[in-house]
Amino acid sequence: MKNVNLTINGKAVAVPEGTTILEAAKKIGIHIPTLCYLENVHKYGGCRICVVEVKGAKALVASCMVAASEGMKVETNSERVRKARKLNCELLLSDHPQDCLSCSRSGSCELQTLANSLGLDRARFKGERSPDFIDISPSVTRDAAKCILCRRCVSVCNNIQKVGILNAQNRGFRTIIAPAGGAPLSEVNCTYCGQCVNVCPVNALRETDALAPVWRALADPKKRVVVQTAPAVRVALGEEFGLPAGTPVTGKMASALRALRFDDIFDTNIAADLTIMEEGTELLHRAKAALTEGKAALPMVTSCSPGWVKFVEHEFPDLLGNVSTCKSPHMMLGALAKSYYAQKLGADPGDMFVVSVMPCTAKKFEVTRPEMQANGIRDVDAVLTTRELARMIREAGIDFVNLPDEDFDSPLGISTGAADIFGVTGGVMEAALRTVYELVTGRELPFDGLHVQPICSFDQVRDASIRFEDVLPEYKFLEGFTLNIAVTSGFAGARRLMEEVRGGRSKYHFIEVMGCPGGCIVGGGQPRSADPMVREKRRAGLFSEDERKDLRKSHKSPVAEALYKEFLGSPCGHKSHELLHTHYTERGTFNELIKK
Ligand code: SF4
Ligand code: SF4
Ligand code: SF4
Repeated sequence: MKNVNLTINGKAVAVPEGTTILEAAKKIGIHIPTLCYLENVHKYGGCRICVVEVKGAKALVASCMVAASEGMKVETNSERVRKARKLNCELLLSDHPQDCLSCSRSGSCELQTLANSLGLDRARFKGERSPDFIDISPSVTRDAAKCILCRRCVSVCNNIQKVGILNAQNRGFRTIIAPAGGAPLSEVNCTYCGQCVNVCPVNALRETDALAPVWRALADPKKRVVVQTAPAVRVALGEEFGLPAGTPVTGKMASALRALRFDDIFDTNIAADLTIMEEGTELLHRAKAALTEGKAALPMVTSCSPGWVKFVEHEFPDLLGNVSTCKSPHMMLGALAKSYYAQKLGADPGDMFVVSVMPCTAKKFEVTRPEMQANGIRDVDAVLTTRELARMIREAGIDFVNLPDEDFDSPLGISTGAADIFGVTGGVMEAALRTVYELVTGRELPFDGLHVQPICSFDQVRDASIRFEDVLPEYKFLEGFTLNIAVTSGFAGARRLMEEVRGGRSKYHFIEVMGCPGGCIVGGGQPRSADPMVREKRRAGLFSEDERKDLRKSHKSPVAEALYKEFLGSPCGHKSHELLHTHYTERGTFNELIKK
């Protein structure tokens, strides 16, 4: 590609044709402030914070939108530019509540940081304000008064997730970002993935707050408050306290939860191991039925991601039979806490309060599903995101970084490495294969370091084939069978794979889907990060947790073994079905919902 030569603030730079001024400046270390722009996600030029002066141009130009050209002379920090940026920021603030003191985004808000860095010390303009409007869904809260119309959420929901819920409605000053017709999120086909929440620069999109009921339960002497933490939380929580992305803080997290006075600190990983036992068994049952009787819903698709499950319920209700009936791991652990553990304690499940700390906003909705309760008692009472747990830790004045490492509690605290990798795309599939292959053949999965390399990337869809040979006698039906697997994360890839299944064109027998692009490590409740390598770093953190363990296969988990022996019986047996499996509900497509 041809290069163009230009100068920025008197410094020469050569960049490939098509490079924006913003990108060219970045290349030579010149920082241009931005607000609506988000690298690789959203380019809109609406906020005009990134304006620069180009010699010969009448007006200032938005550097995120204009390509560098041969001989261009750019000034990024002239008085005219600085004044314009300040004015554009002041205009945004003139239609903003400015209640930073009581705003949960204070300290991590991009508008607040920008106003501060531009030296704004007062709000000069007072004019008409957009109306206040709060839409509280079980997972995501939209606070319209705080929206600065940057449209990052629109790009993520439409172009990356391809769900298309959020769009600009109305025109001019009446413009809002909302589902069609201004409908609440709970009345449309929103998956509650929270990817829009992760990119919102202000507090206009946030997780629906669960701190109050958790603090209340902790203060109630009659409640036994059990907490569990998902795999992805342990490699992201540290970022909220200034630690590098991907740093595993499992021990500090357990310590912090104890300091917060939770009664029992359990690891969702235990239930990830159980998921593999249940889902692996379910796959073998389905494969047997398909190979010996010619009937069974294949491919089987994973069910640990509640955003993904809701997506299928709306968009592919005809394929619900393909989705594994396993509950997601934290729901399994909640059900066990209020049955197996309650029984051990001699406690009334109604006096227990189970809190899940999750990387995910969709899990806040999942716990409200009627099928996730027994005898009118919910399996899980509240879901906190990783960000919310960090808020609790700060509120309690805990010095997180200097906490000693502590362990989870027994009996639901020891898990295998297979469970750790559940937090990253491809992890559930790899964990399942480690177990299924060994159960069927008696040999270890034949991949370096037990990692299934063809599916260890962030490409939208990856696949692999595993051939079963020299199988154990009870699995004779699988002799010579080649299992075709696929892995995807984010709804764009999932839609593609499910369209193939619907059209009878799928060659796969087992598909892993996670709702967030990259998996739970970048779930809608994880710390927001400006680090472009954050996914890779968090994945490396989870892999290191897996690799440091002696036990790396779910079927070798002593806790799972004891649970089946003492309480559950066998995988996919009667008791497991009652506690660890569920069913799904057809929810209607967008067009069907909007007609109601
Ligand atoms: S969103 Fe940001 S600027 Fe607005 S009130 Fe909250 S912290 Fe302040
Ligand atoms: S939660 Fe997900 S599906 Fe819903 S509006 Fe946000 S990005 Fe779209
Ligand atoms: S809700 Fe947030 S991300 Fe969406 S347009 Fe408003 S400020 Fe931007």
